[in-house]
Amino acid sequence: MYDVNKVREDFPILAREIYGKPLVYLDNGATTQKPRQVVEAMVDEYYNVNANVHRGVHFLSQQATDLHEASRETVRRFINARSTSEIVFTRGTTESINLLAFTLGEAMVSEGDEVVVSAMEHHSNIVPWQMMCERKGARLRVIPMTDKGELQLDALESLLTERTRILCCTHVSNVLGTVNPVKDIVRTAHDRGIPVLIDGAQSVPHMPINVQELDCDFFAFSGHKVYGPTGVGVLYGKEEWLEKLPPYQGGGEMIKNVSFEKTTYNELPYKFEAGTPDYVATHALATALDYVTRLGMDNIEAYERELTRYAIEQMQQVDGMHIFGEPQERDAVISFQVGDIHHLDMGTLLDRLGIAVRTGHHCAEPLMRRLGIEGTARASFALYNTKQEIDVLVEGIERIRKMF
Ligand code: PMP
Repeated sequence: MYDVNKVREDFPILAREIYGKPLVYLDNGATTQKPRQVVEAMVDEYYNVNANVHRGVHFLSQQATDLHEASRETVRRFINARSTSEIVFTRGTTESINLLAFTLGEAMVSEGDEVVVSAMEHHSNIVPWQMMCERKGARLRVIPMTDKGELQLDALESLLTERTRILCCTHVSNVLGTVNPVKDIVRTAHDRGIPVLIDGAQSVPHMPINVQELDCDFFAFSGHKVYGPTGVGVLYGKEEWLEKLPPYQGGGEMIKNVSFEKTTYNELPYKFEAGTPDYVATHALATALDYVTRLGMDNIEAYERELTRYAIEQMQQVDGMHIFGEPQERDAVISFQVGDIHHLDMGTLLDRLGIAVRTGHHCAEPLMRRLGIEGTARASFALYNTKQEIDVLVEGIERIRKMF
C-alpha cells in the first residue's frame, strides 16, 4: 500500500504555509522538493567525508570516491544500463544534451546533414541541436503533432533520410504530459541506422525506466526533478556510441596522459567528465533514486496516474476550463486555461491561496506557437501530492473564475 501521508513526513517543506495558507506545491515539473534523506546525505558528506575524488591516496578521498562511484552504479541499476561506463555525470538534462549535440556534431555531422526533433520539445532539446546545425551547415527537421497533442509518427517515414544523423525526442512532454511511444520511435529510427536521444527529464520521476528495453542510444535526465539536488544530471549513452564521440570539455580527469605535444584521453565515462565533479550531488542523487526505488517506481506511477485522472475529472467541472492536449497516455502534467483569464493572473491569484503552479511558455515556444497561444498555467504532480490538494486547486480556480 502506498501511504502518501507517511511519504509527506519526509518532505519538511510541505508543512510550510504561504500567505497563511498550507502550501500546495504543484510545480513539480519545474523541480521537485527534497526528502530529508537526500538533504541529510549532503550534510553528512560535507561534515564527515568531504575530499576531492579520484586523485587522492588519503582515506577521505578514497571514501568520497567510493560514494561517487557507488552512485554511478545506483544510476546504472535505476535505468538498467549495461555498464557504469555508459553513465556520464553532468549538471543536468541541459548539459547532457549540449554535450551530445557538440560531440556528435564534431564526430559525424557535415554540411547538408539533418537532425530530427519533435514539435513538443523543451528548448533544451532544440537549441543545442540548432546551434550545432548552424556550426555544421546541417538542417533541423521537426516531427509534427496532432491537435490532440500526439506526435504524427506517420510523418517519420518521410522525415528520416540517409542524411539524418540523430533523432531527438522527449519521453514525456513538460507541457501536455503526453507520453510518447519512444520504443516505437527508436525502432523506426534504428531500421534506418539512425541513433536516438530520449529526453527523460519528465519521465524519470514518474515511471520505471529501462534503457535496454527502450533500446535508445542516449538518454538524458536531471537530478532535481527526481527528488535529488540541483546541479547534477546524467547522460546515458550506449558504449559503442560514446566510444565514437570526442571529449566535450578538456581539463583534469578526462585525460590519460598530457604533454604539450599531445594528450590522450581517459576511458569511459571519465573522457566526458572534465574537472571536479559535484560528488556530493551525485551521492545525494543516488540517495534520491534509492528513496523512490524503496517506494517502488511502479507504485509511484500508479499513484500519480490516479491523481492525474482525478485532477482532470475535477478540473473539467469548472466552467470555461480548457485543458491542453488529449493524449491517449498522459503523465502527471496538466496545462490549462480558464475562459480568457490570462495565465499570469491565474498563477498569481492561485499563489495568494498558497497554490504553486507554473505559468508561461514552459520553455517550449515552438509548441506554444503550434497551439496558437502564448502560455498556459500548468499543474504538475509528484509522489507527495494528494487528492485533497487537487480539491484545493479546483476550489481556487473556481474562486478566481468567479472573480473575473
Ligand atoms: N527537458 C524537459 C522535457 C524538461 O521539462 C526540462 C526542465 N523543465 C529540461 C529538459 C531541462 O532540464 P534542466 O533545466 O534540469 O537541465
